[in-house]
Amino acid sequence: MRIVVLAGGIGGARFLRGLQAAAPEADITVIGNTGDDIHLFGLKVCPDLDTVMYTLGGGIHEEQGWGRADETFTVKEELAAYGVGPEWFGLGDRDFATHIVRTQMIGAGYPLSAVTEALCARWKPGVRLIPMTDDRIETHVVVDDPDAGPGGGRKAVHFQEYWVRLRASVPAYAVLPVGAEGAKPAPGVLEAIGEADVILFPPSNPVVSVGTILAVPGIREAIAEAGVPVVGLSPIVGDAPVRGMADKVLAAVGVEATAAAVAAHYGSGLLDGWLVDTVDAGSVAEVEAAGIRCRAVPLMMTDLAATTAMAREALTLAGEVRA
Ligand code: GDP
Ligand code: CA
Repeated sequence: MRIVVLAGGIGGARFLRGLQAAAPEADITVIGNTGDDIHLFGLKVCPDLDTVMYTLGGGIHEEQGWGRADETFTVKEELAAYGVGPEWFGLGDRDFATHIVRTQMIGAGYPLSAVTEALCARWKPGVRLIPMTDDRIETHVVVDDPDAGPGGGRKAVHFQEYWVRLRASVPAYAVLPVGAEGAKPAPGVLEAIGEADVILFPPSNPVVSVGTILAVPGIREAIAEAGVPVVGLSPIVGDAPVRGMADKVLAAVGVEATAAAVAAHYGSGLLDGWLVDTVDAGSVAEVEAAGIRCRAVPLMMTDLAATTAMAREALTLAGEVRA
């Protein structure tokens, strides 16, 4: 079975572990979000690709969910001693090596997709990890200008500045995948979608993870036209995100933070099936009325067994919606 998964960072990566356990024989291709990518200290950092790579490759900081295990921060401290920031973005020493290798290869002319493949040769994540695009797309968030006083106007900041520096504590008015219009899917993306037997949306952020991947021209269309089951899992449980700021960025795009509203936001043109948590069982009828097959099952990724059960439910639902 060939499975394609559109993944952000933590939510995507943790789900993928369960999927690997649920379908050990499957050939899994992950299309990773690069809208969160940022250039820091002259280095290209790809937080979501690295979270998937480190999680599946056994290098992740388990409790934190991002960054490397057994990390130290000497380089960051030394940079700060020179007054060189930003200090709000935590890059550890081990992690720095990944960004140095990536930046060096990009400087030598390799596209991000080839670089990601090279990095994965070390980590062996057990999936094919492809960035959504080799072109530069950066998610920006429109907020009240953080450095101006009241009435000081609005400004678009990089997603990482909104999320990490401002901790999503200010209202988000719009979310913009800057550069998306002119971008092309990376080599292999449309081919993987075209050859898939099942396409899954893990419980990743529907706006700044899956939404950004779908904003790359051609990807949404390819999924809608693939003619295979497309099944998603809700990142919203009990009308709130399990972690992170999905409620805030959903508000910015005019979508309620409920499992049913997220399903409707993807729409029946894209989704065939949708899993909501058992606490949201009351919304199953609403999702089905929108033309999307829906089941309520436990959706908390508390451990590998629970996550594996979620992945099995997604594959079962995919089997049911198959025409
Ligand atoms: P990020 O790029 O690191 O923010 O990760 P993703 O976009 O892949 O996933 C973030 C989303 O995962 C958030 O909206 C969370 O609500 C969701 N999430 C995290 N843990 C769980 C969980 O255990 N169950 C469910 N259903 N969603 C989760
Ligand atoms: Ca992310």
